[in-house]
Amino acid sequence: MFTSPTTGAVLQVDTYRPTRAQRRHLDARDEHCRFPGCRRPARFCDHDHTHDHARGGPTAICNLANLCERHHGMKHATAWTVIQKPHGILEWTSPTGRVYPDTPRRVLEFTALAAAQQPPPF
Ligand SMILES: [Zn+2]
Repeated sequence: MFTSPTTGAVLQVDTYRPTRAQRRHLDARDEHCRFPGCRRPARFCDHDHTHDHARGGPTAICNLANLCERHHGMKHATAWTVIQKPHGILEWTSPTGRVYPDTPRRVLEFTALAAAQQPPPF
Protein backbone atom coordinates (compact mmCIF):
# COMPACT_ATOMS: atom_id res chain seq x y z
CA MET A 1 0.00 0.00 0.00
CA PHE A 2 1.28 3.46 -0.92
CA THR A 3 -0.08 6.58 0.74
CA SER A 4 0.33 10.25 0.00
CA PRO A 5 3.02 11.74 2.27
CA THR A 6 1.04 14.99 2.52
CA THR A 7 -2.59 13.86 2.82
CA GLY A 8 -2.31 10.24 3.95
CA ALA A 9 -4.71 9.19 1.18
CA VAL A 10 -4.28 5.65 -0.14
CA LEU A 11 -2.83 6.01 -3.62
CA GLN A 12 -2.05 2.40 -4.57
CA VAL A 13 -2.73 -1.10 -3.24
CA ASP A 14 -1.51 -4.54 -4.31
CA THR A 15 -5.00 -6.00 -4.73
CA TYR A 16 -7.19 -6.01 -7.87
CA ARG A 17 -10.12 -4.32 -6.17
CA PRO A 18 -9.68 -0.66 -5.18
CA THR A 19 -10.14 0.21 -1.52
CA ARG A 20 -13.30 1.95 -0.35
CA ALA A 21 -11.35 5.21 -0.03
CA GLN A 22 -10.05 4.88 -3.59
CA ARG A 23 -13.55 4.20 -4.92
CA ARG A 24 -14.91 7.26 -3.12
CA HIS A 25 -12.05 9.36 -4.53
CA LEU A 26 -12.73 8.11 -8.06
CA ASP A 27 -16.48 8.69 -7.82
CA ALA A 28 -15.88 12.25 -6.59
CA ARG A 29 -13.29 12.95 -9.28
CA ASP A 30 -15.09 11.38 -12.21
CA GLU A 31 -18.78 11.93 -11.31
CA HIS A 32 -19.79 9.83 -14.35
CA CYS A 33 -18.53 7.41 -17.00
CA ARG A 34 -15.31 8.78 -18.48
CA PHE A 35 -15.96 7.86 -22.10
CA PRO A 36 -16.28 11.13 -24.05
CA GLY A 37 -19.89 12.28 -24.08
CA CYS A 38 -21.22 9.59 -21.71
CA ARG A 39 -22.81 10.93 -18.52
CA ARG A 40 -23.88 7.66 -16.85
CA PRO A 41 -23.50 8.43 -13.11
CA ALA A 42 -20.47 6.99 -11.31
CA ARG A 43 -22.68 4.92 -8.99
CA PHE A 44 -23.65 2.80 -12.02
CA CYS A 45 -20.07 2.46 -13.32
CA ASP A 46 -17.18 0.01 -12.91
CA HIS A 47 -13.83 1.14 -11.52
CA ASP A 48 -11.75 0.19 -14.54
CA HIS A 49 -7.97 -0.20 -14.61
CA THR A 50 -6.93 2.05 -17.52
CA HIS A 51 -3.85 -0.13 -18.05
CA ASP A 52 -5.21 -3.63 -17.44
CA HIS A 53 -4.40 -5.13 -14.05
CA ALA A 54 -3.72 -8.48 -15.73
CA ARG A 55 -1.01 -6.78 -17.79
CA GLY A 56 0.67 -5.09 -14.85
CA GLY A 57 -1.51 -2.02 -14.38
CA PRO A 58 -1.53 -0.95 -10.73
CA THR A 59 -4.63 -0.49 -8.58
CA ALA A 60 -3.83 3.18 -8.20
CA ILE A 61 -5.83 6.37 -8.49
CA CYS A 62 -3.66 7.34 -11.46
CA ASN A 63 -4.68 4.10 -13.25
CA LEU A 64 -8.38 3.86 -12.39
CA ALA A 65 -11.43 5.52 -13.93
CA ASN A 66 -15.19 5.06 -13.93
CA LEU A 67 -16.61 3.41 -17.04
CA CYS A 68 -20.21 2.34 -17.54
CA GLU A 69 -20.83 -1.28 -18.49
CA ARG A 70 -21.25 -0.41 -22.17
CA HIS A 71 -18.02 1.57 -22.48
CA HIS A 72 -16.07 -0.79 -20.21
CA GLY A 73 -16.97 -3.64 -22.56
CA MET A 74 -16.23 -1.51 -25.60
CA LYS A 75 -12.76 -0.65 -24.29
CA HIS A 76 -11.86 -4.33 -24.04
CA ALA A 77 -13.62 -5.60 -27.19
CA THR A 78 -12.90 -2.92 -29.82
CA ALA A 79 -9.95 -1.01 -31.25
CA TRP A 80 -10.56 2.00 -28.99
CA THR A 81 -7.58 2.64 -26.70
CA VAL A 82 -7.14 4.88 -23.67
CA ILE A 83 -4.24 6.19 -21.64
CA GLN A 84 -4.42 8.10 -18.38
CA LYS A 85 -2.43 11.29 -17.87
CA PRO A 86 -1.83 13.18 -14.60
CA HIS A 87 -4.90 14.55 -12.74
CA GLY A 88 -7.17 11.82 -14.10
CA ILE A 89 -7.13 13.13 -17.66
CA LEU A 90 -8.01 10.31 -20.06
CA GLU A 91 -6.93 10.36 -23.67
CA TRP A 92 -9.10 8.12 -25.85
CA THR A 93 -8.01 7.15 -29.35
CA SER A 94 -10.68 5.95 -31.78
CA PRO A 95 -10.12 3.08 -34.25
CA THR A 96 -9.50 5.74 -36.93
CA GLY A 97 -6.78 7.40 -34.87
CA ARG A 98 -8.68 10.48 -33.73
CA VAL A 99 -7.83 11.51 -30.16
CA TYR A 100 -10.50 12.57 -27.64
CA PRO A 101 -9.22 13.99 -24.33
CA ASP A 102 -11.55 13.74 -21.32
CA THR A 103 -10.76 15.94 -18.31
CA PRO A 104 -12.67 15.51 -15.04
CA ARG A 105 -14.85 18.57 -14.41
CA ARG A 106 -13.45 19.14 -10.93
CA VAL A 107 -9.89 19.31 -12.32
CA LEU A 108 -11.05 22.08 -14.62
CA GLU A 109 -12.74 23.93 -11.73
CA PHE A 110 -9.78 23.72 -9.34
CA THR A 111 -7.27 24.64 -12.06
CA ALA A 112 -9.34 27.67 -13.03
CA LEU A 113 -9.77 28.65 -9.37
CA ALA A 114 -6.02 28.36 -8.69
CA ALA A 115 -5.26 30.43 -11.81
CA ALA A 116 -7.78 33.11 -10.72
CA GLN A 117 -6.07 33.38 -7.30
CA GLN A 118 -2.62 33.98 -8.78
CA PRO A 119 -1.37 37.56 -8.75
CA PRO A 120 -1.37 39.22 -12.15
CA PRO A 121 1.88 38.73 -14.11
CA PHE A 122 2.62 42.48 -14.17
ZN1 LIG B 1 -20.28 5.20 -20.62
